[in-house]
Amino acid sequence: MSERIGPRGKMLVISGPSGSGKTTICKRLLEDPRVKFSVSATTRAPRTGEVDGRDYHFITKERFRDMIARGAFIEHAEVFGNMYGTPREPMEQALAEGLVYLLEIDVQGALQLKALGVEGVYVFIAPPDFEELRRRLVTRRTDAPEVIERRLKKAEDEYRERVKYDHVVVNDDLERAVGEVRRLVGLD
Ligand code: ADP
Ligand code: 5GP
Repeated sequence: MSERIGPRGKMLVISGPSGSGKTTICKRLLEDPRVKFSVSATTRAPRTGEVDGRDYHFITKERFRDMIARGAFIEHAEVFGNMYGTPREPMEQALAEGLVYLLEIDVQGALQLKALGVEGVYVFIAPPDFEELRRRLVTRRTDAPEVIERRLKKAEDEYRERVKYDHVVVNDDLERAVGEVRRLVGLD
């Protein structure tokens, strides 16, 4: 297997409602050495098990504002009261190396990039249905009940935006969903 997908890589933008399975799918995609994860910066506190520099760059609000001012992000957005941003520099390098550069970002961020004409494959990960989405958020055990309700309300708004993406992948069966995304960026 060659460790590049072509002379120039491809940006793969994954978003979708909270609990739809984005993180699970991204972890699977990252088992392929031709895929590199875009580590976002965020002002939120790390969750148990999250590692600084691997899952996110956990930074202060002051530092985040400074990075915005310096134009260090290709996009940034506020999600549930915290700031998130995609650093510009590592992206250019990964694309030059011929890799798939994987962004797991929220719907506002993804549509910002698309509106700016940033070239990439934009994929919306959809849950099979909203009852299943609630079940997954509850069994994940990372959020309080009121946070889950907020995420579900937002999920309904985000779901309407799926028509603006290049592709919608329904995450019912994980293997099938991962296979579908891999084919969309030419990994299979
Ligand atoms: P997101 O990153 O979109 O918020 P997660 O990847 O954290 O979502 O998934 C939410 C929960 O659903 C997790 O507990 C995960 O293990 C589970 N999950 C993900 N994909 C599937 C699937 N295809 N079938 C059943 N459960 C799934
Ligand atoms: P969480 O706090 O659960 O890790 O992420 C909350 C939301 O922020 C998710 O929808 C995630 O995709 C999104 N997110 C993570 N990094 C970025 C980023 O750099 N930019 C944008 N716009 N959203 C992000």
